[in-house]
Formats: sequence, C-alpha cells, structure tokens
Amino acid sequence: MQALKTFPVGPLTIDTGSGGPLTAQPGSLVRGQVDLVELADGTPVRFPIVLVNGSKPGPRFYLGAAIHGDEVNGISILAKVIASLDPKSADHRFPVSQFMKSPLDQAPIDAWTVFPGDAGGNLSQIVAAKMFALIRECSCAIDIHTPTRGGRYVPIAILPSMSLGAAAERALWLAEQCATGFIVKGDRGMYVSRGISCVEATAAGVPAFTFEIGEGGRLEQSVTDEGARCITNALIGLGMIEGERRLPPVSHLMSDFLGLRAHRGGLLRTEVELGAVVKKGQLLATITDIWGDVVETVVAPQDGVFVRSTTLSNLATGERAVTLGLL
Ligand SMILES: [Zn+2]
Repeated sequence: MQALKTFPVGPLTIDTGSGGPLTAQPGSLVRGQVDLVELADGTPVRFPIVLVNGSKPGPRFYLGAAIHGDEVNGISILAKVIASLDPKSADHRFPVSQFMKSPLDQAPIDAWTVFPGDAGGNLSQIVAAKMFALIRECSCAIDIHTPTRGGRYVPIAILPSMSLGAAAERALWLAEQCATGFIVKGDRGMYVSRGISCVEATAAGVPAFTFEIGEGGRLEQSVTDEGARCITNALIGLGMIEGERRLPPVSHLMSDFLGLRAHRGGLLRTEVELGAVVKKGQLLATITDIWGDVVETVVAPQDGVFVRSTTLSNLATGERAVTLGLL
C-alpha cells in the first residue's frame, strides 16, 4: 500500500454544529447531520454523514457523493458499501469515515469548484469549507459524481494533475485499487483546475480523485453494483477490509478528454456503445433534422475511448454529442 496517514484505534468525533459532537466509538457506525448554512426563513441546511469507526488502526477514508444534488447513483453506491461493512468484526481494519453530501445545487456558484472554501464566504464557499474540514482529517478521499442529466459516463476515475507530486501519485494508486476500468490522468481542463474538491484535497496532502459513474438523476441497480465494486476494491486495497478485488476485463489509462459538440441542432443517434475503443475516422453519431434528414455526422478525429454519451436526444448547436477519452 502507498504510504498513507494512519490513525490509532479510538473514538472518532466530528463537530456537527447545533447537534453537538457526533462520536463513533471503535467498532461502531453512527449517522448524523452536519450544519451547513441557514436560509432566509431560518430553515437550517444540513448534510447527512455516516461515521464508520473500526476496531484496528488504519487509514481514514472520506467518501462523498452528490454534491451536485441529482447525482443519485453515488448515494446508492455508498449506501450499499456501508451496508456491507461490519465495524465490529475483528477481521476489519478500520477506522473508515464515510461522509455523504446533500443536494445543494441551488447554490449561487458550484460548491464543487470553490474548495478549499471559505468559512466567511458565500454559501458555496461555506459548504466547501465545511466539507474540506472533514476531508483534511482523512488519509485519502473519493468524490463520487455523475454527469448532469442527459449525460452518461463509464465508471471513470479522473485524477488531479500529477504536477501536485507525491499525493497525486498516491491518488493514482488509489484509482488503480478501485479498478474502475477507465482512468484519466491529465493536465488540462475543469477536472484538474484549482478549486475542484479532489485537486485541493490532493494539494493539501490528502490523495483524492473524482469518480464519475452513470447518469444524472437516474438510479440504476447495475450502476450501484458497479460503483460499489469499485469502492469495495479501494477498501480492500487500503487494507481496511479483507477480500479479493474484483477487476474489470480491460483498463484504459487516458491523458485527456475530447468533447465533440454539435454544429447543428437536431436529434442525436449514437452509433457506438459507451466504453468502446474507437478509431480515427469512425462514425460515432449522426444528427438528423426534424424531417429525418441527416444534417451532421460526428466522426472520431483521433483514436480514443467513448467515455461519455449524451442520452437526451434533442441537441442544440454547441451541446456535447460525444466525449472521448484520449489514449
Ligand atoms: Zn457532479
């Protein structure tokens, strides 16, 4: 295992705000709520949290999901993983901490992009600061997402830039433990920008990556099962639980994304299966107008892997039709 911060056996306590301290004793699991902000009418906004504290020393693992609100598969994946854990069992080496985030997509800016946050800042910055305070106390982290509604990702680990040094190398190791089948190790674009939760976590010495899987707004058992397989693999790789990691048939390590956007409006018909390796020149999708005539063909400009599809079939100019991962 890569050198990660480990913690002795002992009570695991976080400050929930108005609810006071929340403590998981060794060998136990507790659920709670953490204060985030207060709305104009005094309504408190909180996020749910689960602390799982084991009975052996080991790393502490932050797992977050659904910071973008409707990315529900991540909630289901974590619920399945947590249900499979037995913190009392002597065979398990915890502590592991699991933190789940609540829907907050009404924030004025995207909380995901303003880490490490600012406790004295705007709503999104406060949310980010509260979550970052928890992430900082952990050995490593995975932040689970799906695309926005109308998009679908293969299970894909998106790493922070390797320019962040040793912690980024450890994030790569953690992604390899997950064995999602798809890893992007790049240096450009939104996912590696400063402010993104996993980038700031890694920069602060907590190896982390973004895990995208499935489709926004849709809860699918097959996606839950696949995501739980990956997270369970990570727990095994970290030595936090016993077991054999289950690996995918193929793994693709990619260096960047290439989003292919529509130049014409119309109806999208995708011609290749999500996850497929595609060759330069291969037909990926067609766009037809409302009369049924093809107005645009989307062709692979270079070799790649079809990692993100558009599932809402009515496209306007400028919308993404196909996203490739570049090998
Ligand atoms: Zn997201």
